[in-house]
Amino acid sequence: MTETTWDLSVFYESLQDPAFRRDIEEIHERLSEGHALLASDTAPLGQLEGLTRLLETLVNKLYKAFSYCNLTLATDAQNDVALKYMDELSQLMVDVEVFQSAFTRHIGSLENLEDLIAASPLLTENAFILREAREQAAHLLPESMEKWMLRMSLSGGDAFSKLRDQLMGTHLVELDGKQQPLPAVRGMAYDPDPQVRKMAYEAELASYAKVELPMAFCLAGIKGEALTMAEAKGYPDPLTRQLAESRMDHETLQAMLTAIQEALPDFRRYLRAKARLLGYQDGLPFYDLFAPVTKAGARYTPQQAQKLLVDVFTKVHPKLGTFIDQAFENRWIDLYPKEGKEGGAFCAGNHELKISRILSNFVGSFSDVSTLAHELGHAWHNRCLESVGVLMADPPMALAETASIFNETLLNHTIRQSADDETAFGLLEGNLQETTQVVVDIYSRYLFESAVFEARKTHIPSARELKDMMLDAQEKAYGDGLDKEFRHPWMWVCKPHYYSLNQHFYNFPYAFGLLFGLGVFAKYQEQGNAFMPRYDALLAACGSGKVADVAASVGIDVRSTDYWRSALSVIRGEIDQFVAMVEKR
Ligand SMILES: [Zn+2]
Repeated sequence: MTETTWDLSVFYESLQDPAFRRDIEEIHERLSEGHALLASDTAPLGQLEGLTRLLETLVNKLYKAFSYCNLTLATDAQNDVALKYMDELSQLMVDVEVFQSAFTRHIGSLENLEDLIAASPLLTENAFILREAREQAAHLLPESMEKWMLRMSLSGGDAFSKLRDQLMGTHLVELDGKQQPLPAVRGMAYDPDPQVRKMAYEAELASYAKVELPMAFCLAGIKGEALTMAEAKGYPDPLTRQLAESRMDHETLQAMLTAIQEALPDFRRYLRAKARLLGYQDGLPFYDLFAPVTKAGARYTPQQAQKLLVDVFTKVHPKLGTFIDQAFENRWIDLYPKEGKEGGAFCAGNHELKISRILSNFVGSFSDVSTLAHELGHAWHNRCLESVGVLMADPPMALAETASIFNETLLNHTIRQSADDETAFGLLEGNLQETTQVVVDIYSRYLFESAVFEARKTHIPSARELKDMMLDAQEKAYGDGLDKEFRHPWMWVCKPHYYSLNQHFYNFPYAFGLLFGLGVFAKYQEQGNAFMPRYDALLAACGSGKVADVAASVGIDVRSTDYWRSALSVIRGEIDQFVAMVEKR
């Protein structure tokens, strides 16, 4: 790796590129064509085929322009030109949504959908999406109100969501007399020096006072709109809507949550053992959740991270190894933190261009390498989805984490096998750290979001109330694993997922993804490298079916609590191992 910023020129030369403007114009033209075709008396088969093709083009063009702006802003939060275009593209996205729902309404009105599908290769290829549209037709907004409700959202939930991005993108924390970006300060939670971790935590918490009021309004605005929208669409609540749109059902969610609740005492055993190791008597303080437990704490340069990842994945899946090498060599990754750059990490793919781009805030820890493995999993997932049409290349939340978790697990597993005792102990703990986040912290976020929705039904919750709800959720999830004196009442300010306009409860899919990914990894352990072609086929199918059906294709029954218990028992085994190692020290 020689360049550590990503290359976006495959999208456009710049925001001034005439091709960028042309794509926006083309979206307008295709939209007019689409509405004309809907209103025409074209024969049903030709009409449905034409509409499907138009939708494919619209999705391609819109996401190309939208991703370009979005990625530009991700590393440069205050880019004025990109911000202006984002407003225009948000408007256009609403127009495309309006067309999409007109299309859905049209499909709902067809009496012979199955005959039309059978008569056309294009429609057969898109059969799952068309059948799903027929189910969705029952949950459309009333036609006369639709456009106005979506437009109102631009000055409601959508504006609050953008305000949140601006507030957090420019949020600075005063530490050591210097103003520092939030991700850099949060990154200090991994520092080997306990004083640094504690000071960073205190500085972070102190910094939230200045933004908690606008952030509470952002959250209330977005969640209030979600409640209104769910009701207008005929769902009993936002969770039911989210499950339907995630191609999941209550039965699956309940099976998983039951198994998670049963497993909480195990996670608390891990947290209390880690606390004892660090010299605490009453559970772990929040600022030491990510504390390294070994001195080793290997550091990685980007080149070392690249070599490690390429080596590990080539042994299991040579094509994936080569793919990862290309990601580093061909500037698919924006590596380092900087002011004005978004925190955390993500991967964004583009189906038409057959590319992915990865944002990370790499500071050289093993956890950063593991994050890269995670995001590269998403990129590989995108690559596998290139074999299906664009309308089926968008897996639901619950399956979107399959490849990322598989990658993380394989990396950890491989490294631990050949490591010395001290390193293995550090890696085991690092793994449990993350697992605890994905199961226990995610469970607390699920409880918090449920409480926010409940409160928002009657009023706008104040920052004070939100902090109490967060502490309550942390108590229910972490229990005596965390020290009561040192928790994190502002987690709702720093986690972006609560502020997504279209995805609510963007928490349980992470737990689902982890535990499902572990289940898929167990299949790999059973079958070895011979499993990998089946694995790629599973990834390619993730956007073409209901979650339970996609899972069943590799022999996993997600509606059974026992499946989730068995996935969690793998983690329990690791916790037993960790606790025994702590007792020996
Ligand atoms: Zn992910």
